[in-house]
Amino acid sequence: MARVNLDGNPIPPVSICMIGGGGFIGSHLCEKLMSETSHKAIVIDVSSDKINHLLHNSLPWANRIEFHHMNIKNDSRLETLIKTCDLTINLAAICTPADYNTRPLDTIFSNFIDAIPVIKFCTENNKRLIHFSTCEVFGKTIGSFLPEEYRKDPQYYVLKEDVSPCIFGPVEKQRWSYACAKQMTDRLIYAEHAENGLKFTIVRPYNWIGPRMDFIPGVDGPSDGVPRVLACFSNNLLRGEPLKLVDSGHSQRTFLYINDAIEAVMLMIDNPDRANGHIFNVGNPDNEVSVKELAELMIQVYAKVADVPASSLSTLDVSSEEFYGKGYDDSDRRIPDMTIITRQLGWKPSTSLDELLDSTLQYQHQTYSHAIKTELSKPST
Ligand code: NAD
Ligand code: UDP
Repeated sequence: MARVNLDGNPIPPVSICMIGGGGFIGSHLCEKLMSETSHKAIVIDVSSDKINHLLHNSLPWANRIEFHHMNIKNDSRLETLIKTCDLTINLAAICTPADYNTRPLDTIFSNFIDAIPVIKFCTENNKRLIHFSTCEVFGKTIGSFLPEEYRKDPQYYVLKEDVSPCIFGPVEKQRWSYACAKQMTDRLIYAEHAENGLKFTIVRPYNWIGPRMDFIPGVDGPSDGVPRVLACFSNNLLRGEPLKLVDSGHSQRTFLYINDAIEAVMLMIDNPDRANGHIFNVGNPDNEVSVKELAELMIQVYAKVADVPASSLSTLDVSSEEFYGKGYDDSDRRIPDMTIITRQLGWKPSTSLDELLDSTLQYQHQTYSHAIKTELSKPST
């Protein structure tokens, strides 16, 4: 049966230039596009590890997906690929907090400078752009600067795309270089739209998590690498080590299951008239926990999944300087206002934190526990 959009019209197949499509979000988007649509994906990335399972010639969608091993920093093929497609989705970024204050130049270049040609080629060739920004552009909440009694008032912590200010710490706190670079890119896209008619959608993900997020240090990533919190805590659980709570794990986050998130992106792809010209928060305001609560929940869920006593798993407080180095800072709270995405696309997330942790930790256990057991059983040198 032909797929129809939110206005009841058949969805024409489009070709999508997916930059950074070999990463966590891109891999899930490619899976969805291949299995449920007739859209075509031209994927650009420096690695195809997370999408190799989609690239075999024998698969039914083999003629609808192409992988181009390319670094967009220095490859003249970029403009041609953007030109040949109807839509560009830009996911390419350095987006791991451990990098923001240790590789600040790479962070700024990746999230701002390297995005400039992508935006320019889309404008000049009259191509639609869906660009991935971040909830982190809002920085800290107003509430974090106010006395305790004001912090309970949603007007001081709910983040609204068209209203909330963006509050960053000082330049020495290089954590904010990522947020600042992303925000500058958002502003450039908006300016290209205002002056030159660029058709854009900006996505602000709020801690999307699920299988294939980042890497497990020492298994499919460097053993001294520090991925995002889901993979850090998964690594600790798999190794039976304490889960490290940075600055006591006070910061709060809302977590969105990747499958729910991909539904939102699909609505944007398939409903350009409703998505163009908008910035969308994409998160799950009902799944809020502190990082400490997340750790405790992951311990309970993993104990069931791996059939080990929860009492054998624990947490450990570490300072942010010890964990991330000098110049780290943190977003205190991230609750997305959902008005714009509900109004334009009728999207709502449906997966609870318990459910998403259950399926994600089952995946982590099935994928990594054998490799880690083998590694741990080797005599140390
Ligand atoms: P990811 O790191 O898994 O994916 C990014 C991909 O971009 C990687 O595969 C990387 O190899 C590729 N890439 C980076 N620089 C490149 C270059 N110069 N040339 C070619 N490829 C390059 O991250 P993700 O979680 O999939 O995030 C995708 C986007 O969403 C990023 O822009 C990120 O800032 C944004 N985002 C994600 C989250 C989240 O919750 N996952 C939250 C906020 C923002
Ligand atoms: N964090 C933690 N322990 C870890 C990894 C991360 O306490 O092992 C904290 C981190 O300080 C932040 C939160 O978890 O407060 C989320 O971190 P993540 O790397 O997922 O990215 P962020 O949401 O900050 O962009």
